Amino acid sequence: KAKTEGFNKYVFYSPLYKENITRKNEIEALLRKADFSKDFELVFQPQFELPGERLIGAEALLRWKSAEHGYIPPSVFVPVAEEIDFISRIGKWVLVQAVEQIVLWNKTYGTQLKMGVNISPRQLSEDDFFMTLKTLITDSRVNTAWIDAEITENLMIEENSKVKPIFDLLEELNISVSIDDFGSGYSSLGYLNKYRFDRIKIDKSLVDNLLLPGGSGVEVVRAIIRLAEAVGKTTIAEGVESHEQLRILNKLGCRQVQGFLLGKPVRAEDFARNFIERDLEAAAQKALRTAGRCP
Ligand code: C2E
Ligand code: MG
Ligand code: MG
Ligand code: MG
Repeated sequence: KAKTEGFNKYVFYSPLYKENITRKNEIEALLRKADFSKDFELVFQPQFELPGERLIGAEALLRWKSAEHGYIPPSVFVPVAEEIDFISRIGKWVLVQAVEQIVLWNKTYGTQLKMGVNISPRQLSEDDFFMTLKTLITDSRVNTAWIDAEITENLMIEENSKVKPIFDLLEELNISVSIDDFGSGYSSLGYLNKYRFDRIKIDKSLVDNLLLPGGSGVEVVRAIIRLAEAVGKTTIAEGVESHEQLRILNKLGCRQVQGFLLGKPVRAEDFARNFIERDLEAAAQKALRTAGRCP
């Protein structure tokens, strides 16, 4: 117990990594000798439907506590892992854990939540990605409708002939695809009808801009939501931190939200207690009230 608490502490309160390790080589060495099952952990951040804020799923986010340097955030180690061709090994571990978790929640609570898993562009274009996925699906008996592949926008712009067929295969497997960090980089709208996908994740930077004076940030998000609707995609806003942002997103017709305001990424047990159980309880209460009104 003490050990797991120590892990949590590192996960959220150790800002010293920047001074401790800045060099790619050091991270590479640490990654190569990492003991995945001991040093890695997934945390889960809730995603909610608008309006009404029913729980619809979670995004699995990877946490790494290296033995020597403590907590190192994904923004630091994921790019290194991609560069040294190590991301697929990590990505496989993440997929297995995330799928295991969503199956477990279904067994325990009867929920049909979606598990968002971040898939690195590198991982996606790896030759055995699809086989690994198929094996995992067979072994875990997961309902593939519970898996959502979050793929970052930057991938779409790269000319990668391997990618389009992967999108088609994901659809064949009934795994949904979200375009992550939409609007964060050099967006090219061309991919909106080139690839098959389901959902646009409006980047946190655009959600932050909702509060810009003058309202230009609101217009940008409004335009994205309209565009998404027009091409038949769902929208989810990420990084929602304030009630004012939530209010605006509701008004603009954004379909889903995720952010610290509604829930931070937490470990599986806490996710179940804080979000799944609470959501089921709220739904039951509401059903009771409705039944009471029209007996
Ligand atoms: P992302 O996929 O866009 O994930 C959202 C990030 O925003 C997460 O950071 C999350 O903790 C953070 N976040 C969510 N809501 C809020 C909010 O309201 N305010 C603020 N300030 N932040 C919020 P995290 O966990 O540090 O992950 C950063 C990035 O690292 C992710 O961005 C994703 O690109 C990558 N990543 C994380 N886990 C994995 C993984 O398992 N595989 C791969 N390939 N990449 C991962
Ligand atoms: Mg993501
Ligand atoms: Mg994102
Ligand atoms: Mg992001």
